[in-house]
Amino acid sequence: MQLTSEQKDIKQAAREFAEKEFKDIARELDATETFDDRLWKKAAELGFIGMFIEEEYGGAGLGHVEQCLVIEEFARIDTGIAQCMVAAYFGTQLIKLFGTEEQKKKYLPPICTGQWRCGMASTEPDAGSDVASITTTAVKDGDDYVISGQKMFITNASIGDYLLVLCVTNPEAKRKHDRMSTIIVETNRPGYEANKLHGKLSIRCSDTCEVAFNEVRVPQSNLVGKEGKGFHQLMEFFNRARLEGGGALAVGTAQGALEKAMDHVKKRKAFGGYLSQLQMVQAKIAEMATLTEAARSMLYRAAESVDAGKMDHVLVAMQKWYTCEIAVKVADEAIQLHGGYGILEEYDVAHFWRDAKVLEIFEGTKEVEKTLIGKTLLS
Ligand SMILES: Cc1cc2nc3c(=O)[nH]c(=O)nc-3n(C[C@H](O)[C@H](O)[C@H](O)COP(=O)(O)OP(=O)(O)OC[C@H]3O[C@@H](n4cnc5c(N)ncnc54)[C@H](O)[C@@H]3O)c2cc1C
Repeated sequence: MQLTSEQKDIKQAAREFAEKEFKDIARELDATETFDDRLWKKAAELGFIGMFIEEEYGGAGLGHVEQCLVIEEFARIDTGIAQCMVAAYFGTQLIKLFGTEEQKKKYLPPICTGQWRCGMASTEPDAGSDVASITTTAVKDGDDYVISGQKMFITNASIGDYLLVLCVTNPEAKRKHDRMSTIIVETNRPGYEANKLHGKLSIRCSDTCEVAFNEVRVPQSNLVGKEGKGFHQLMEFFNRARLEGGGALAVGTAQGALEKAMDHVKKRKAFGGYLSQLQMVQAKIAEMATLTEAARSMLYRAAESVDAGKMDHVLVAMQKWYTCEIAVKVADEAIQLHGGYGILEEYDVAHFWRDAKVLEIFEGTKEVEKTLIGKTLLS
């Protein structure tokens, strides 16, 4: 796939922004498990947030390819900061796809301007991959829903202004998959409680929380789309989010780790020359670069087909599994090529490896992706 000149300009602008703004601060944000909100606001000012949202709601009206280019460049410097930026899509994507005109006007523009943050909450303490087994309920009472239950590992839950929450609304439905709905919950509502999780291996600057809904009341107008369609909407969400929140983060992470490794082997002396002159080292770099390029091609192809309206959920799942596995592999080799220095935080490759690992877990674990691919191909 050839990038257009506009796409190349977007990629270059994202690269310049990330190099200027992320480099000096990334290690500190990782160590302190905090995010600098100024980065979010600056990114929004430059139009990097909500690029995929239509212009009438404050976005740039661009596609998944453009979003992926930006997120890839952000992750090339720091996966955690890139995750904080990509989280803009978690809450907005479902509203864009299924929301009412009023919901779009209310909830999309403040994300694009960087005023608000948002998230999407499906995972529960006892239901992750098996999302159809969630138990959080939303019960009708007058004009409201009353939401009760718990969610786990929710990005942006302690700093976000609203979450899109998957709830059981139709427990009587025959099929498990038809029992759920997506409901917008503003985080300032009484009964909402988010506790930030500390001590994560990966993307430590990104806010990850456990959430309790203690009879949280929201108006029924906060329902997104139709009742009973929540599970199906979530699958549509994943078919898109696995591009930015999976492949683009992974390709950028692999590229960042590869560049660190290349830099190191060109400077490190051994056996009367530089590591880069050893054929075994050259072979490792060749393999890392080739795998990264293959992952990138797959990501761009999948993103392009979604933008062209030809949703191929198998291809999306394939690129999610493959790109994320490659990110771990490349980051692992980058540590190996650094020798002992690789395990020191100041050389950054350990940081890339730590961050890469979570990519194989969220937005659908690699096992879930493979199950989906295999099942569909064999059906
Ligand atoms: C940093 C972070 C941020 C996250 N952000 C969000 C968020 O914003 N919103 C949200 O809703 N969730 C979020 N998640 C949750 C994430 O999506 C889940 O962790 C993920 O879906 C896996 O679910 P689980 O942790 O319950 O693991 P499980 O589902 O318990 O899986 C455990 C293991 O069993 C395997 N397994 C499960 N089922 C099968 C199967 N059928 N066949 C083969 N193997 C299987 C899995 O692949 C995995 O290896 C986040 C997670 C993390 C770590």
